[in-house]
Amino acid sequence: MEQFDLGIIGGGPAGYTAALRAASLGQKVVLFEKESIGGVCLNKGCIPTKSILHASELFKKIQACSDCGISVQNIELDYSKIVERKNNIIEKLKKGIELALKNAKVTVVRAEATIKSATEIIDSNGVNYEVKKLICAVGSSPKTVKGLEFDHKFILSSDDILNLTDLPKSILIVGSGAIGIEWTRIFSNFGVETTIVELAQHLLPLADTEVSKRVERIFKTNKIKFYTSTSVDKIDDNKVTLSNGEIIEPELILAAIGRQPNDVEKLDGVKYIGDVSGEIQLAHYAIKQAVEEVENIEFRKDLVPSVVYGSPEIAWVGKREQDLDGEDFKKSNILVSALGKSHCDNETEGFIKILSQNNKIVGAHIVSAEASALIQQIVIAMQNDISVDELKKTCFAHPTYSEGIFECLFR
Ligand SMILES: Cc1cc2nc3c(=O)[nH]c(=O)nc-3n(C[C@H](O)[C@H](O)[C@H](O)COP(=O)(O)OP(=O)(O)OC[C@H]3O[C@@H](n4cnc5c(N)ncnc54)[C@H](O)[C@@H]3O)c2cc1C
Repeated sequence: MEQFDLGIIGGGPAGYTAALRAASLGQKVVLFEKESIGGVCLNKGCIPTKSILHASELFKKIQACSDCGISVQNIELDYSKIVERKNNIIEKLKKGIELALKNAKVTVVRAEATIKSATEIIDSNGVNYEVKKLICAVGSSPKTVKGLEFDHKFILSSDDILNLTDLPKSILIVGSGAIGIEWTRIFSNFGVETTIVELAQHLLPLADTEVSKRVERIFKTNKIKFYTSTSVDKIDDNKVTLSNGEIIEPELILAAIGRQPNDVEKLDGVKYIGDVSGEIQLAHYAIKQAVEEVENIEFRKDLVPSVVYGSPEIAWVGKREQDLDGEDFKKSNILVSALGKSHCDNETEGFIKILSQNNKIVGAHIVSAEASALIQQIVIAMQNDISVDELKKTCFAHPTYSEGIFECLFR
């Protein structure tokens, strides 16, 4: 039986990061992947959605570019080309990871693997492997609830939606987490009649309430129909009855109500990282867990940024205003429209909100162009315990969205 220092099941961000890090430390590594290297993130998640989202934003921007003195006629949309581009991006990035694994001399086994014990793995071809350490990074799958089971034709999962080669005329999106919001933006940018239904009181229920309310306002402005505190009661053919009595007849439904860790036996001695760990279901969390596991580099689990993409981006880290209820804290706020850069870019929607206690930032909530980059500055400040007064001494370039952070701190 071939022996390895480390066996990893699952070739997503958690698995391939662990493999590359361990190999760089000189360990003999075997990695099992039953479908496609890159996992959900590369093949069905982060990358494909962002590539389609980018095309949809471009489509919308081109239609609005007369504001900037540019007139474009005969704009044509070929969704199949957008899908083709998405597939090409996946292939290119996948080849990059595969090459990195090859160069690092990681043995990649393209088969389903099963854990026999904390030191033994068997693949679907019946081959056994002995490992000194075992990491299980088998990921998660779309969640469903009774009455909203995927039939993969009318009721689609976030996997199915990527297989569309044509845009529907209308769609109902159930669930307004990051996946629901991003697909709402994609479809509405492309002119698809989009309705979103959320069981919680506000859209994007995990966000700071002020952020959720701003998203609702933006959706209203963009004439995107949404229902909060509402669920799907009944589906008859394509007739959907909501809990508020409304009946809608969408061409498709995207059920984006969350993801569940894939079912695996939990054994002592085996390390479970990434989505399967049941902790935060984000690719960067999976990657940090892998680095922590292999290289022993700890990270702050309370400082994991969340980002929702599209225009404007939404990002946050740390405590929300509702978490600080009853506590003493300072709230600093600035509208993005106060920044010169936002006017140059036609991106005036949004705000930056920084919450601090005793001169230290405890949370930040941003709705703005480039929010995904802005939040990182806050994460670094929080991670390194940089006080608000110290940050005020930092020089921020002009005109940028970053200077919004600087301006905000003085409010
Ligand atoms: C639509 C969508 C958009 C997303 N957008 C973002 C985003 O913008 N940013 C972000 O941070 N996160 C995003 N995510 C979440 C992100 O994709 C996951 O958090 C991340 O992929 C988790 O990585 P992982 O390595 O734990 O698991 P996965 O990526 O799920 O990889 C697990 C791998 O294990 C393989 N596997 C499973 N069982 C076995 C077995 N028995 N043998 C061999 N192989 C096996 C699977 O085939 C899979 O390739 C998104 C997810 C979705 C669905």
